[in-house]
Amino acid sequence: MSHTKGFTLWFTGLSGAGKTTLTTALLPELAKHGIRVEVLDGDEVRTHLSKGLGFSKEDRDTNIRRIGFVARLLARNGVNVITAAISPYREIRDEVRASIEADGGEFIEVYAKCSLEALTERDVKGLYKKALAGEIKSFTGVSDPYEAPLSPDVVVETDRETVAESAAKILAELERRNLLATITRKAASIF
Ligand code: ADP
Repeated sequence: MSHTKGFTLWFTGLSGAGKTTLTTALLPELAKHGIRVEVLDGDEVRTHLSKGLGFSKEDRDTNIRRIGFVARLLARNGVNVITAAISPYREIRDEVRASIEADGGEFIEVYAKCSLEALTERDVKGLYKKALAGEIKSFTGVSDPYEAPLSPDVVVETDRETVAESAAKILAELERRNLLATITRKAASIF
């Protein structure tokens, strides 16, 4: 089977669950297979593409739909994409999946799962303590909803796995889908 479309590896999970860290860990591993990827990071997207949007349900949905829209444009032109945004609502994630799959693209939902206890302990960005103290309104997982995926393609349990173990699980899923074979396939087509 040939993959003329790019894949979309879609992270979902609470702030600090490991989406950015795993994206960073995956890039060199994918590069070893000759696979280039465009990254749409939630925090970064909010500084330009979604600048001005807040954290109401409506704005969150708009933000995720925009990320999904760009991912779809890239994927249908053969560019692989990793998205690293909380993407808290199931319905919007499913909508994005449907739009990408309708174009024939592969959509791989990766749930970065981590307990609130571990996140509060970790508190990478110092936000949980503030949110738990009531200083941040609409903080996902504390004072705003997070809908965990019902049937994610990969679950990484970042409160009990190392970064390398979680990254390996994701790579195994890409391998299972025959998405890591780019170089071999290209080489084969020369002969
Ligand atoms: P997010 O992008 O989801 O907001 P970050 O990647 O910024 O989260 O932060 C995740 C933190 O958790 C980092 O400090 C990272 O080192 C740590 N961590 C521990 N174990 C894992 C794991 N298995 N996968 C990803 N991150 C992990």
